[in-house]
Amino acid sequence: MASRLIWLGLALAFLWGCAPQRETLKPSNPPQQSPATLLPPPDLSQEQILGLLRPPNMVEDPSSGCSAQAQVMQSFWKLRDRAAQDGWHLTLVSGYRSFKHQMRIWNHYDSLYRKTDGLDSKRRVRAVMSLVSVPGLSRHHWGTDLDISEAGLRGQLVNVHPDTPARVVQFYNWMEHNAPQFGFCKVYLGKRGAVRDEPWHWSYFPYSSVYEKQFMAIQDFHEVMSDQVGDVHYLMKNFPEVVKEETRSINTECSLEVQN
Ligand SMILES: [Zn+2]
Repeated sequence: MASRLIWLGLALAFLWGCAPQRETLKPSNPPQQSPATLLPPPDLSQEQILGLLRPPNMVEDPSSGCSAQAQVMQSFWKLRDRAAQDGWHLTLVSGYRSFKHQMRIWNHYDSLYRKTDGLDSKRRVRAVMSLVSVPGLSRHHWGTDLDISEAGLRGQLVNVHPDTPARVVQFYNWMEHNAPQFGFCKVYLGKRGAVRDEPWHWSYFPYSSVYEKQFMAIQDFHEVMSDQVGDVHYLMKNFPEVVKEETRSINTECSLEVQN
């Protein structure tokens, strides 16, 4: 178990993190210049939904190197300012990820389970899906979803369980109470579907609910069936079920139908 935790920590630092994949974006709007009104979500093409092309209007958070759509990042900055008033120092661990970035994370865990656990393809894919979305199916492709940590957690993403320090639980409670006021919805509750609970993963609902609808309408995923993706043959054979397990994991309160 200890080695698994170490691997997870390393992966978070080197795979999830934004800085190593840092792209040459400069913030088009400094944090203090937040828009007074909500801008409508820009249209995304199917290739952008699947992570094959970058979404428009992306800005970088200078302190983390993470990128997101401008409206999303500005809302995060507002949330971060609000959190600071209560003594919490929010840090971004991940924002926008391309298909290739997602594939690097997926392949890391896929090869890890291949070496250590001797699982068959079905159980291995299920195990990897509990930690990371299948490349092409990640909400991080949309530039709307952020993995948020706190300085006291030193940039770690921590699950809540009986041994979780009280301060961490307090932080997540604070987020649950406050983040929705800035448009963010907690996506993965770990109650159903393949993905475990992820108290750090927040989605900018005014945009992502629109893109989620678009994602749900996609029938043909052949564009993301790269033979560079670990266990791609199993994924290809079982893709409808894989997509279903991914989408079943999503908190229904983050969906447009429920909010309306
Ligand atoms: Zn995430």
